[in-house]
Amino acid sequence: MGTAAKPTRENRTITVDFRDETTYFHLMEDGKAFLECVLAFILSLGFQLTHKATCGGGRGLTRHSHYVRVRLGGVTIWRLQCTTCKAVFTVLPHFILRYRSMRPEVARDALLATHGGLSLEWCAVICNISPMALYRLVCALGHQSVVTVLTRCGLPLPRYILADEKHSRCLTDKVYLPTVVSGRVMWHLGYTAEVSAAALTQSYGVFQRAASQQEPSYRVQGVLTDGFDSTTKSLRMLFPGARLGNCLRHALNKLPKKLMAIASPVRKALRSQFHTLLHRARQRKGLRVFALGQRLRRFADHVTTMAGAANGERVRSWFADKKAGWYAVLADPQMPASSTLLDQAHNAIDRKLFAMKGFHHPGGSQAAFLTGLAHLYNLIPYQRRALHAGHCGVEVEGGRLPTSDWMLNLQILTSGGYQCGAQTPYH
Ligand SMILES: [Zn+2]
Repeated sequence: MGTAAKPTRENRTITVDFRDETTYFHLMEDGKAFLECVLAFILSLGFQLTHKATCGGGRGLTRHSHYVRVRLGGVTIWRLQCTTCKAVFTVLPHFILRYRSMRPEVARDALLATHGGLSLEWCAVICNISPMALYRLVCALGHQSVVTVLTRCGLPLPRYILADEKHSRCLTDKVYLPTVVSGRVMWHLGYTAEVSAAALTQSYGVFQRAASQQEPSYRVQGVLTDGFDSTTKSLRMLFPGARLGNCLRHALNKLPKKLMAIASPVRKALRSQFHTLLHRARQRKGLRVFALGQRLRRFADHVTTMAGAANGERVRSWFADKKAGWYAVLADPQMPASSTLLDQAHNAIDRKLFAMKGFHHPGGSQAAFLTGLAHLYNLIPYQRRALHAGHCGVEVEGGRLPTSDWMLNLQILTSGGYQCGAQTPYH
């Protein structure tokens, strides 16, 4: 099974915004002006070029060679070489997609339709491309990790995260998509055929390693899960010292299932009282943890009175099992209390995977495909009528984008030849 991401090959392709094609063709005639334009663009992004490890960097670039892309109607592409380390950078103008004969406008429409939940086949029909070409395009976007792309947007690595697995199917097999979300952005969308602690550790470990590469001292302070054992174990292993909390909203929705053989109005009343209890516990800072322990005991007694000893006992033992996770949420005001944003992300991904079920096959490159979908989730702006209309998840979380065009941002940010600059951020 293609569960592991293919290693990113040493790809130093960069996408440069030349504004319009005429400018590009003019610059083609003048090497010095071309080079200056490229360097100015990189500087404006606050990026640097990925030189070889041994290179001191610097601006020592020279025009190296060029070749003609026959497939693209003979557009000439320049390559630039570092005079120190000899690394070669391929400069793609904004109107060309890497290795693809598809024009960005066509890709833009197809990706938008895909993101909106239209099947690959239908996207392909309306955009007049092959479904496989669209699938491969999403996979190609997924060759850069989500952590790389988000940190290029200046987003700090998340100190508090929501983590959970989306259950999905690969033909007839059950598969799981371990996901890490912080606010409106997805930091990890993995793939595993098993739900054991070992399998989940491997998947969440991909995020942990990518983050540690960006920032060796990276520590997660708090993780919110729905309390599933394998999830908790794997996260405890990967992020020792992090607070592990259980979602309070899940708790609220679980309570009625613990109450058996009672009249519906009693069940509803108890749920509403439990809601009030959790809500008040959240509002009482400082004393919150102590207050919660006492209130949970009283509430279990109350259940016994209202719904009988058996229900009271079931609720009491459920509390005993889960309360540490609720304490963890209440003890730290920065801890997210509910996994709603993660559920929303899962629903969005679910719609796409459902629409693409014909392509969700064992021989596919799931890791790259899912990472590509995660980029779309983070970078495509919300619709006109939505909350945060016109902004994408990265912007909502305070990230910076290279341009105001999401497709161009996707092209630039998933380029292989850029690195985060140490200073001079754009904007
Ligand atoms: Zn160099």
